[in-house]
Amino acid sequence: MPWSERHRAMLREMGLRVWQPAVTFAPAPPRPRAGSETPQAVTADVPARRPTLDRDRDRDRDRDRDHDHDHDHDRLREAPPAAPSLPATAALPIDAAVVEAAAEAAEAVYRLDWPALREAVASCRACRLCEGRKQTVFGVGHEQAHWMIVGEAPGAQEDEQGEPFVGAAGQLLDAMLRALGLDRSATGDAAERVFIANTLKCRPPGNRNPQPDEMQRCEPFLVRQIQLVRPRIILAMGRFAVQALLRTSEPIGRLRGRAHRYQGVPLVVTYHPAYLLRNLPDKARAWEDLCLAAELMARNAVASAADSVIASEATDATTGAAGEERRP
Ligand code: SF4
Repeated sequence: MPWSERHRAMLREMGLRVWQPAVTFAPAPPRPRAGSETPQAVTADVPARRPTLDRDRDRDRDRDRDHDHDHDHDRLREAPPAAPSLPATAALPIDAAVVEAAAEAAEAVYRLDWPALREAVASCRACRLCEGRKQTVFGVGHEQAHWMIVGEAPGAQEDEQGEPFVGAAGQLLDAMLRALGLDRSATGDAAERVFIANTLKCRPPGNRNPQPDEMQRCEPFLVRQIQLVRPRIILAMGRFAVQALLRTSEPIGRLRGRAHRYQGVPLVVTYHPAYLLRNLPDKARAWEDLCLAAELMARNAVASAADSVIASEATDATTGAAGEERRP
């Protein structure tokens, strides 16, 4: 994606040296005809990656290990005890009763509208995290935003303010979004807005890692938020957001740089801004991820426009044929 001088200025503002993307996007392949799409399929059309070398895998592993211990600057300040590495939620055994209770609760949650959903989250006591929270962190942004950002769990400042991605990490996220002409306002043009939500709505005590049963119980709220927003692109930021949405234990370094899908919605994996604050070289990779998301949005817009034209032509042809049949 060629950058305008405005984007370059924004990158400089974010503390990034202006650089050219290492990858170029291949031309968009023909869009499958309606009814032939496989909603859950992982798209392989962007961008072509060079073969992964062993040293790349080692580097990715090191980066993800850093990210796991570094994804929230609040956690670093509070020097939490070393937590065991948590595999993907789906890869860990969860008590059957928890799964059953969460499934039952989900049925009710999936029928809620925005006000009822907000109320349900605010009063939720479905897991032990309710005991230590100051307040729930529902989410922020435009309720019909074209972009949705999914983070991990609230940190101390989020717990204090009731809003996700605040503090230095939030400022960095906002700067990155501004570079793409986006912001988290609740009003305005939905195409230029984001809705931001976390995987967990309550802060884990001491900012420890989320536990599988907590993620399981909280998941229906995030699912319902995605259903209501109906975003055109999802950015999953951080390991636990990726685990919740993609059900994989693959490290972020191996998942970023390509398009995934969540319930048919294109999804891009990237690093959490709090991690980026301490790993400056990866800011460039995060910017690549945002550019990938923007490219996917642009492609979808073109494909939708093409579909509209085809549908319109088909309607015209049908009308014309009917008209001809009416002629004597
Ligand atoms: S983390 Fe989620 S499931 Fe647990 S109490 Fe908070 S809102 Fe409820």
